[in-house]
Amino acid sequence: MNVNLNIKAEDKCYWCGMKSVGFEHVPPQNLFPKGHRNELIKVTACKKHNQDLSKVDERMRINLIMLSHTSKVARKLFNEKIIKGIQREESKGLGIDIANNIYEKPEGGGYIRVNFEHSDTYFEKIIRGLYFRIYGNQFSGTTHHFWNHSNDLSLSANAHFYYLELEKKYSDEWIVGNCKNKQVFDFKYFYCNDEKQFFVIMNFYENHKVIGISIPKGKNIEDYGVDIEKYLNVKLE
Ligand SMILES: [Zn+2]
Repeated sequence: MNVNLNIKAEDKCYWCGMKSVGFEHVPPQNLFPKGHRNELIKVTACKKHNQDLSKVDERMRINLIMLSHTSKVARKLFNEKIIKGIQREESKGLGIDIANNIYEKPEGGGYIRVNFEHSDTYFEKIIRGLYFRIYGNQFSGTTHHFWNHSNDLSLSANAHFYYLELEKKYSDEWIVGNCKNKQVFDFKYFYCNDEKQFFVIMNFYENHKVIGISIPKGKNIEDYGVDIEKYLNVKLE
């Protein structure tokens, strides 16, 4: 039996580096209505990381489409796909679930209560996929994200602050992702050599901003808290 030990980059899994068996879209294809599927981003994936996440993808799609009031593309998808799906008798539970977990402000925008397992899996896949697409290999360690329409109460105030400052802190460094369907998805990124960290700022339907980061092995998100008092002192000086 011949075992090929020299797996080429194009045969590697975007997540773990094992031999790929197929392609994955990052972000998932179901976010893009017809007419907005120009050059979608695809990565190669192994059997384990090519698994069917269609339930998570569908729930997250609904979350992202809701609260995208100003997006014509999101409205179109909502009217064409989501409404019909929810109205089906067998989807009754899903409709009630959405009503219970999405808070829409009368003036637009709002908050979504999410299943963190779902959103973590969903965004980890996209962060890893984009990294692989840009650099052609995987990063070790974990990922974390910050989503402007989901209030993550497990984060300390310092970690919140870290995220809120990131875009400004690296304002000269961001590289635009050159997406072809910006009304649906766009991103900018950069890799910080000092911190050994990948940063990506994603935008869904021009309404949801999600900041994704890679966290090197042995660290966790709370290690990145900014010393708020120190920061404020510097600003006041
Ligand atoms: Zn894999």
